[in-house]
Amino acid sequence: MIIPVRCISCGAPIAGKWEQFNREIKTGKKPAKILDALGVNSYCCRSVFLTHVDLIEKIAKYKDWY
Ligand SMILES: [Zn+2]
Repeated sequence: MIIPVRCISCGAPIAGKWEQFNREIKTGKKPAKILDALGVNSYCCRSVFLTHVDLIEKIAKYKDWY
């Protein structure tokens, strides 16, 4: 879906860094370097960035999902 606003484990706000992370991933930089530059240091927060799959565009096509 969309990235959680806060880390599920520690509660640090992470959603504000998602767009920049996504932009830099597309340029071919290594994820570890990007997360270091963004100041995302804890393992829990890094795992959210590394494992998140943005599916909101695909799911939004189906309006009668309830
Ligand atoms: Zn965290």
